[in-house]
Amino acid sequence: MARYDLHSHSTCSDGLLTPAALVRRAAERSVEVLALTDHNEICGLGEAREVAREEGIRLVEGAELSVSWRDHTLHVLALGIDCSCRALVEGLGAIRDGRNRRARLIGDALATAGIPGAYEGALQFVTSENLISRTHFARFLVKAGHVREMKEVFRRYLVPGKPGHVPHAWAGLSQAIEWIHAAGGQAVLAHPGRYKVNATGMRELLGEFRDEGGDGIEVLSPSHTTAQTAVFARHARIFGLLASSGSDYHGPGESWVDLGDMPHLPAGVTPVWQRW
Ligand code: AMP
Ligand code: MN
Ligand code: MN
Ligand code: MN
Repeated sequence: MARYDLHSHSTCSDGLLTPAALVRRAAERSVEVLALTDHNEICGLGEAREVAREEGIRLVEGAELSVSWRDHTLHVLALGIDCSCRALVEGLGAIRDGRNRRARLIGDALATAGIPGAYEGALQFVTSENLISRTHFARFLVKAGHVREMKEVFRRYLVPGKPGHVPHAWAGLSQAIEWIHAAGGQAVLAHPGRYKVNATGMRELLGEFRDEGGDGIEVLSPSHTTAQTAVFARHARIFGLLASSGSDYHGPGESWVDLGDMPHLPAGVTPVWQRW
């Protein structure tokens, strides 16, 4: 079976490697099919496509869309998109819009909590115009010595109930799925185990996602424990959703699972790549 990695980031969003370097690293690590899925951004796909051709690896053109559902932020992967699709391009633009305003508010909120200069600090880490994310604040908080490591940031800061959290309205779920389908892509709910919903809430989310036309869920993700992988494999079967696998790689020294370093999908699920 080919080695798939269907979730990764480059400097076009909050990854540390350029699209070219990311694709080369994937090729070196024997990944055969790589999806580049920058947050609400497709500006890296052209470069990635070119290098993938040189390296002889198959690139799945993608993105990771931010979605507001109830009071949660979800991430929905778009896999296999035609990036010239106007509906999708405009949709992604609409999601990116407002990130700067939000970033200033995050800076203000951190200043109130006794951490001045965070907006300017986060800007130092930004590598793509109009794409300032919590990851960039997290890198600043680590570098400035407020926390030891990235994971700790998302326990102590920037999340609901903690300093630096700023609620934000992203795309609607049905809207995001519509844009992805308009571009000929598959909509895959990323790292479902990360969302803070109870068992009933998860069934409601997966039911709604499927009813809105969602195609699959990420069963294998570094965000999941072994137990969660089994739970989401079962959910995929029961809800009739395809199963995906991705490292969510952001870069060396930051991601503890490297490109392509995912185990096989559990038995009994239908892989998202079945009909590719
Ligand atoms: P944003 O889109 O600005 O809300 O930023 C979200 C980004 O923060 C994600 O794409 C991740 O890269 C990062 N992030 C969020 N939660 C965590 C977490 N628990 N651990 C590590 N990184 C996280
Ligand atoms: Mn990210
Ligand atoms: Mn994500
Ligand atoms: Mn991601």
